[in-house]
Amino acid sequence: MLTLTYRYRIYPDLQQELQMTDWLESCRRVYNYALRERKDWIASRKCSVNACSLQSEYIIPADAPYPDYYRQKKALSEAKKTNPGLKAVHSQVLQDVIGRVDSAFASMKQRGHGFPRFKKFGQFRSFLFPQIDSDVITENQTAVATTGGTPATRCLIKLPKVGKVAINMHRPIPSGFKLKTARIVRKASGWYVSLAVQMDVSVPDSIPQGHAMGVDVGLEYFLSTSDGEQVKRPRFFNQLQRKLELLQRRLKSKQKGSSNRRKLNQKIGRLHEQIANCRRDFHFQLAHRLCDNAGMIFVEDLDFRIMAKGMLGKHTLDAGLGQFVNQILSWVCWKRDVYYGKVDPNGTSQECPDCGAVVKKDLSVRVHHCPECGSTKPRDIASGQVIRNRGLSAVGLIVEEIACGRDLSGALPRQDRVKQESLRSDLEKPALYA
Ligand SMILES: [Zn+2]
Repeated sequence: MLTLTYRYRIYPDLQQELQMTDWLESCRRVYNYALRERKDWIASRKCSVNACSLQSEYIIPADAPYPDYYRQKKALSEAKKTNPGLKAVHSQVLQDVIGRVDSAFASMKQRGHGFPRFKKFGQFRSFLFPQIDSDVITENQTAVATTGGTPATRCLIKLPKVGKVAINMHRPIPSGFKLKTARIVRKASGWYVSLAVQMDVSVPDSIPQGHAMGVDVGLEYFLSTSDGEQVKRPRFFNQLQRKLELLQRRLKSKQKGSSNRRKLNQKIGRLHEQIANCRRDFHFQLAHRLCDNAGMIFVEDLDFRIMAKGMLGKHTLDAGLGQFVNQILSWVCWKRDVYYGKVDPNGTSQECPDCGAVVKKDLSVRVHHCPECGSTKPRDIASGQVIRNRGLSAVGLIVEEIACGRDLSGALPRQDRVKQESLRSDLEKPALYA
């Protein structure tokens, strides 16, 4: 089963916008209520019999069951009978909110995320229609007939209970795919819909073949490849930081709850969104360019969250190294049928790519010079080549033949299946982007 997500901008009219904003607020309340219920239950079980808790806890009977997904869902349909506000929202949308609470607790237990938090006003930004028909997108005949229509008005999407909303179909949904779910997202710049489309095919994993490339990411250069290409670090945040600081300073003088404050917040939100969009676009273009001339791409298996806590944290986050390496590059590689592998990051900069000797150097030494074989090259390119060599030996290809750039037809994978499979299982499934 292949699932892709396509995001389009939608243009609701004022009535629809009010309705959807109302829904978001109702969803937020349901989310907070469900979270409170679970939190109270957990807190009531924390205090041991012989020691009193310093905080006062709710006393919930010992035999009261844990409010899990099914109980809360049932309670929701009960609550709807007495609460007209909940009735206004599409029923599946509200049920999905309970699912969101449930998955927040699941990822806390399984993936080590933090304890789920309450959502403040305006922090609930999206809701999901878990089921939509395949024919929800139609042509807007009146607009096309009268004016020919702009891209923003040529198509309509019919959302349950909301009605027809103008949608900018800037790219068609690929043929053979069926619409599954629609998530409505409110951003600073407007409203968007993320359509999940599905096709019943199985896509084989890409096999390691072709030209191998090792990619070393860092802060001096955003990335350095084993082929000698170096890309400067973009500074999206730095460029707009002054502007952002100025706006945020102004926020202080605005009265809380005033419409001027709201407008300014809107402006700040847009600026943040603009920074994120620029960064994302840069990442995608770069990833595609790398895939243009490589059959295999290897990267270091680094934990960028630790890097972001260091002295250069702001710059690490601004460059978005983690997003690039873990999400976008792996996804683009998958889409372009390029093999993507992660290698052990230990000591990649301390090794000579040509003879394998250990060449100790600290961070200030930017040029790799090997006393054993005399090779001299920029430090990051050298570690890119080490990453490539490690990746190649991990998938069972012979390093020397690739490194010399000889014809690759002879360098078929060794029968080193066990090793290869263990590497493949290490790869995470890429998060899907359109
Ligand atoms: Zn050497």
